[in-house]
Amino acid sequence: MTPRNRFFALTAGAVFALAAAPTMAQAVADKLYVMDCGHNAATDQSRWSPGVNVGKPIELSDNCYLIRHGADWMLWDTGYPDAVAEKPLTSPIGTATRAKTLAAQLAEVGVKPADIRYVAVSHTHGDHVGNVDMFPTSTVLIQKPEVDWAFAEGKQPPFKKDRPMKLLSGDLDVFGDGSVTILSTPGHTPGHQSLLVRLPKTGWVVLTGDLAHFKDNWDNDRVPSMNTNADETHASRAKVAKVVADKKAQLWINHDLPTFNSHKHSPQFYD
Ligand SMILES: [Zn+2]
Repeated sequence: MTPRNRFFALTAGAVFALAAAPTMAQAVADKLYVMDCGHNAATDQSRWSPGVNVGKPIELSDNCYLIRHGADWMLWDTGYPDAVAEKPLTSPIGTATRAKTLAAQLAEVGVKPADIRYVAVSHTHGDHVGNVDMFPTSTVLIQKPEVDWAFAEGKQPPFKKDRPMKLLSGDLDVFGDGSVTILSTPGHTPGHQSLLVRLPKTGWVVLTGDLAHFKDNWDNDRVPSMNTNADETHASRAKVAKVVADKKAQLWINHDLPTFNSHKHSPQFYD
């Protein structure tokens, strides 16, 4: 190759790289559906806000989020078990109900469990992993410390462990194009995680998991009594607050009922 030809070959390569970079930066997920995955009439808000609103009841939403990315479907959290639709679940925390099953909401948008490539869970509490076993062929995306903690000996396993599972150690760019990113946000549990999604019209959205249970706790950085690590909780919130500021993202707090009520629900979707 002559020096001149080599120059053109290099230039062509550079132009291609420059042309490719903005496309990557603008990659988006196509659609996001907010699904009603339960409701909790809790008797004492101070379980999540120690010393504040002691003995005051609070109504909490519990959501699943279905994401379409090209030909792929991804589910973020699975809510209370669908069986709760038949039989409400009463515990010392409150009463959990389900107005609709997850199965029915998926069927309504024409998605079968086998169509779902990834089931990512924010953490392994029962109101987030209640239906993981409905998706035996999907790959569960979960942090390794969460699996080590939740499946420890003597504990009730949150779902069947013998299944496709990808164990993460930190953040993950799920589709490799920056459109859907799992953010490691430990503190509520050892391997808690949140999700950053970019949509074509809606823009950037952070799905919190239980990083905070309701807006007042997020605004005041209050740490629930059941969190496994308060320092990690503060650090994880600071990490997400920075992402929200940098991306001008919306923060969708899973259990915050006013947020849920203000949203469009499946079969409507965000794009
Ligand atoms: Zn939780």
